[in-house]
Amino acid sequence: MRIPLIDLKRQYKVVKNEINDALRDVMDSQSFILGNKVLDFESAIASYCKTKYAIGVNSGTDALILSLKALGIGEGDEVITTPFTFFATAEAVTLVGARPVFVDIEPKTYNINPSLIEEKINNSTKAIIPVHLYGQCADMDPIVEISKKYNLKIIEDCAQAIGSSYKNRPAGSMSDIATLSFYPSKNLGAFGDAGMIITNDKELNDKARLLRSHGSDVNYIHNMIGINSRLDNLQAAILKIKLKYLDKWLESRRKIAAYYKEKFKGLPLDVPYVPDYNVHTYHLYVIRVHKDIRELIKSLLEKGIETRTYYPVPLHMQECYKNLGYKKGNFPEAEKASNETLAIPLFPEITEEEKDYVIKCIKDFFRK
Ligand SMILES: *Cc1c(COP(=O)(O)O)cnc(C)c1O
Repeated sequence: MRIPLIDLKRQYKVVKNEINDALRDVMDSQSFILGNKVLDFESAIASYCKTKYAIGVNSGTDALILSLKALGIGEGDEVITTPFTFFATAEAVTLVGARPVFVDIEPKTYNINPSLIEEKINNSTKAIIPVHLYGQCADMDPIVEISKKYNLKIIEDCAQAIGSSYKNRPAGSMSDIATLSFYPSKNLGAFGDAGMIITNDKELNDKARLLRSHGSDVNYIHNMIGINSRLDNLQAAILKIKLKYLDKWLESRRKIAAYYKEKFKGLPLDVPYVPDYNVHTYHLYVIRVHKDIRELIKSLLEKGIETRTYYPVPLHMQECYKNLGYKKGNFPEAEKASNETLAIPLFPEITEEEKDYVIKCIKDFFRK
């Protein structure tokens, strides 16, 4: 058997006819940039995430860059975030001219540890970017409290967490501005790059809308320096259709996670820890193995099971961030997690047989 981490072809089969029709509509209209489908999809996402505004952009990375710009963050500013995330979170901070300042993670949820944030705040600190890693929200209440105390902005990086919630509040609705990615393998994936900014703040909405389109809302009149980062009508048409299925797909993810959790009982591995107040959407199902992880990965691969570590090199250890002056040992929990975790196959269309095979192979490995 061969079991990939995710199989997008199976999902496409479910939505193929609807999507093909919608794509034909767009092609017939020959309206490709910021058309009706984009407006439609923006309002659908705003309502899904319970925010007032949604702004379609080219990618989750651009959503971060434009959110930082909309908040006026740039040269000389510092932005606090986690070193245990996809590179784009910190890259966006660097690209607007600011400095990423890392704070270690909580070992159980892998999310930023709020109790370590305050010691990193100084006069240059302007914002915090909590990342809702793997589909589970960071502990937002203490983060919001800190942001109020020090007058900082919060940008939620929800690239992996559309549909997740914290104390009944949807991911992306707990901050000044938040970002989504529709990279094909995310829980809601486009057929290419796509992303979105969501916010309740009218001023930030207006600014982000201008910034994504050359700082202009009237042809050839430019109010500010922006970039070209517009969601296109074809992607919006696809995403609008897939959005109808999202809750069902997320429910399947939760069911599969519950099944794994049950079957892994008694094995020397940690399944994802989910505090009562969180609804996890399992973008990735990440287990922690305290020893022999290399052997486990190798053994699963030999049996046709794909696994991957998200992320093998924490951001403070990246070559291109040498200039930030961090060294090995600065963020022990992030470093440990990068050595002890791996994602195993979980996607809504995975079959019973495949799940059971994954479980059997992991059990066999530990029985040896
Ligand atoms: C995927 C991802 C991004 C970047 O999104 P793109 O659409 O690929 O640019 C940013 N942050 C996190 C945490 C991600 O997982």
